[in-house]
Amino acid sequence: MSNNDSNTIILPASISVRDLAKIMNTSPIQIIKILMSNGVMANINQTVDFDTSAVVASELGFEAALEVPEEEQEKETGEVPMWRQVIANEDPAKLVDRPPVVTILGHVDHGKTTLLDAFRETNVAGGEAGGITQHIGAYQVELKGRLITFLDTPGHAAFTAMRARGAQGADIVILVVAANDGVMPQTREAIAHAKAARVPIIVALNKIDRDDANPDYVKRQLSENGLVPDDWDGTTIVVPVSAKKRTGLADLLEAVLLVSDSMEIKANPGGKVIGTVIEASIEKAKGVLSTLLVQNGTLENSDIVVAGTSYGRIRAMFDFRGNRVRKAGPSSPVQVMGLNDVPAAGDLFQVYGSEREAREVINERKQKTQARAITSPKATLEELFSRVQAGEEKELRLVVKADVQGSLEPIVNSLNELNGGAISLNILHAETGNISESDVMLAAASQAIIVGFNVQADASARRLADTEGVSIRLYDIIYRLTEDVEKALKGMLEPEIKEVVIGQAEVRAIFRISKVGNIAGCRVVSGEIRRNGHLRVVRDGKTIHTGELSSLKHEKDDVREVRQGYECGMAFKGYNDLEEGDLIECFILERQT
Ligand code: GDP
Repeated sequence: MSNNDSNTIILPASISVRDLAKIMNTSPIQIIKILMSNGVMANINQTVDFDTSAVVASELGFEAALEVPEEEQEKETGEVPMWRQVIANEDPAKLVDRPPVVTILGHVDHGKTTLLDAFRETNVAGGEAGGITQHIGAYQVELKGRLITFLDTPGHAAFTAMRARGAQGADIVILVVAANDGVMPQTREAIAHAKAARVPIIVALNKIDRDDANPDYVKRQLSENGLVPDDWDGTTIVVPVSAKKRTGLADLLEAVLLVSDSMEIKANPGGKVIGTVIEASIEKAKGVLSTLLVQNGTLENSDIVVAGTSYGRIRAMFDFRGNRVRKAGPSSPVQVMGLNDVPAAGDLFQVYGSEREAREVINERKQKTQARAITSPKATLEELFSRVQAGEEKELRLVVKADVQGSLEPIVNSLNELNGGAISLNILHAETGNISESDVMLAAASQAIIVGFNVQADASARRLADTEGVSIRLYDIIYRLTEDVEKALKGMLEPEIKEVVIGQAEVRAIFRISKVGNIAGCRVVSGEIRRNGHLRVVRDGKTIHTGELSSLKHEKDDVREVRQGYECGMAFKGYNDLEEGDLIECFILERQT
């Protein structure tokens, strides 16, 4: 327990009279007297709540503040990253403007890298000739004497990884959309990420130099995706640029400053030092090199830093041009030497008073991580609903995937019709195609559920969902999907039955046997195929049949199961259309706990 300044005293949510007396540096009798005069009878061992101890404190001339346990401090409240909470707790009088931090998202090949290179080469803060040759994961540019910090790890994988750790660093997203290609799946994903993180979007309508550029068409697509351009009476700034020809870049930077002026982009350079790890690597000569984005306070040489579960005293700091620096204030990216281990991108870093303190923090963290791994809560529909009921959650977030646009639209429409109750439904992302790793990342970062219609989850997505505790529910009947979501919203959901894939086999040949029908000659490529399991036939990534086997044979024998590496013959109940090259997936249904 420590005092912030001489008049403020930090008290826990409940405290015994004895301990209160100790903190107040007075006798327990004195405390009991004050309590009695306020109508509270308490003996020395009794505990009082914060409201009561605050009254005692004020009678003794102190102002009480509620102690936030460290556990809670580390926990994100909703979508607000911890560094933002730190800034929110700073003395407002000490907050000053800091450069906006911008990240660039968009579909592959739409020009993210070219745009980042263009800014790096043409608009280097400090006007150094030749541009920045260094790559440390972030750099700054200058316009009209004002700085803008760019995170130059394009792609939403990095952005989501940061969000998943609750440490999302960007204030503004520039969404690059190629004017000749328009809104594509990753564009929509990026929009979903930015919206879920509540970060404003500026659209860079790139490749405007191309003959086949069609800005109006793209603007219509953007409007359909909730980004109505400002020249169409909307609120999204759309700036035509050519990253390749270097045109429109100043307008784009101007738009960034304009948007940042409408936001509170501030920090206290003299406050608590906190920030985010942008990237980190290990180099032979220099040891661990970590790029840190300072978000509040000023990081100084020799500071003792804890980032994730690594720590160390800063031995040297370099700015994005490779120059040695001694200090780095809010929104500055710096590369530091001195951490004992490589932290993960997206980890928060903080400064501690001594190496001993830093080591203690890390040991505690490691223990907590282990404990959490055992009891990590799952973002299942049931779990979310109980959180909603407990008042901890006011919305149910979904990622919706469907096989074709023709089924996605009616699903999204009927889900939207469910809105209007006490709990709102927020569809973060709706797209056609199988459930991918990035869908799971988005769901994990936003505590959302993934529902799929006539699609499957990729193997990597399934693995990630398991480790991140994301619930994926697959349906082949639309009303079952909407019914489940409706039940979840109303709290009547049955326990979830989860599909667990236990094996996969490849169809190598088809044998047509009169009377019996077709037998598929298969090889089990992973896990096992069970005679009484459920089976799914997948062709070109799409499920074309789900059913059961009528026979499973190994050589000439009927068997109950066939394991990886063995050949087998399979026939399906009531299904005869297998083809060579089909993938057969065997799954069982398990009740999710
Ligand atoms: P990223 O995958 O989004 O990072 O895309 P890149 O920056 O790698 O660009 C993909 C391709 O588009 C490259 O061949 C670029 O040269 C080209 N490109 C990028 N910007 C422009 C532009 O403004 N105009 C034209 N014509 N081509 C561009």
